[in-house]
Amino acid sequence: MIRKEYLLTPGPTPIPSEVSLVQAEPIIHHRTPAYTELFVRMVEGLKKVLLTENDVLTFAASGTGAMEGAVANCFSPGDRVLVAAGGKFGMRFAEIAKVYGLQVELYEYPWDEAADPEVVERYLREKRDIKGVFLTHSETSTGVVNDVRAVGEVVSGTPAILVVDSISGAGALELRTDEWKVDVLVTGSQKALMTPPGLAAAAVSPKAWEYVERAESPAYYFCFKKARKKYLSDSPETPFTPAVSLVKAMSTAVDLLLSEGLEAAWERHRILALCTRAGVQALGLELFPKVLDRAYAVTAVKAPEGIKGGEIVRHMNRVHGVIIAGGQDRLKGKIFRFGHVGYYHFFDMVTAVTALELTLRSLGYPSDLGAGVAAMEKLYWELTEGRESNL
Ligand SMILES: *Cc1c(COP(=O)(O)O)cnc(C)c1O
Repeated sequence: MIRKEYLLTPGPTPIPSEVSLVQAEPIIHHRTPAYTELFVRMVEGLKKVLLTENDVLTFAASGTGAMEGAVANCFSPGDRVLVAAGGKFGMRFAEIAKVYGLQVELYEYPWDEAADPEVVERYLREKRDIKGVFLTHSETSTGVVNDVRAVGEVVSGTPAILVVDSISGAGALELRTDEWKVDVLVTGSQKALMTPPGLAAAAVSPKAWEYVERAESPAYYFCFKKARKKYLSDSPETPFTPAVSLVKAMSTAVDLLLSEGLEAAWERHRILALCTRAGVQALGLELFPKVLDRAYAVTAVKAPEGIKGGEIVRHMNRVHGVIIAGGQDRLKGKIFRFGHVGYYHFFDMVTAVTALELTLRSLGYPSDLGAGVAAMEKLYWELTEGRESNL
């Protein structure tokens, strides 16, 4: 039998064929007008996706490169920062901050809940020397999505800056960088931005630039000042050789996303999440997050009694070619996750839930074949009223 794979992980994600194809074009030199035009189009498009007028800097790196850049460029060794973490990616900010010698106040909220803006406010009131607050928009490891707007409200009234990782959020979930007062917004190419892995971006506010001016931590490849200077020069470029093919890919993907419309894309993701949720719940499974508001990027599901999350993931992959993700760190074995950020449609999620039904049955869980799919299809009908919905 021919093996056909269905990629349903929260990164990397499938990419549209237009995005694949531009990468096959001949390489153009990066110090030419043709490249400049392409690069500016991508960056200006990204600003529209992030709803920001701040400087957007791009780096040839996975998303973590821009996370490290945010830490390195905005702070100095010994600076006190608050990291709100409720999963593996929140913890990553704490790890990076420690590597750069910052004093980390860790506000660890339960991994199945969202960060409480009032707790952030209390930290900032009690420790007035906190210079930065780090928050994960969509905590991909748990499926929880934080209320960035509320935290932005709290932080913007203080001298501290707000750094947000929206690597699995931007393009999929409502995100208003400027209106929500995010000072450094970090994202990456391989999730909702429908591009292969390898490009990272950071949107930097005027308030954050003041921090950058004063910061003393070392930064070379991820130096924000150097990146801005090159972008604002007469022929906008990057300080180092860019990932030319990825820039082509991202520029194409951003155009596609903007032609769908941001709000339409957010609504599509909401529908995908609600339908997937309905499907797994109809099989008698429980969702992992207790807080489901805004949780439209990843559907994280508790593994049923007696079956390890990893077994489900492996079986779906090996037998059905459906690739989903397991739990990470302390959630290993306990959960499994469907990603639906980026180039996804309802029918992709039908495939995923169908494979789950078959897999559960193979692993001895009494799953009623078709029950998950029936539930999600009914909900899809209700949400779209059967209208042309190839969103
Ligand atoms: C994917 C992801 C990252 C970055 O991981 P990379 O492997 O560097 O791309 C960081 N934060 C979140 C929330 C993510 O989903």
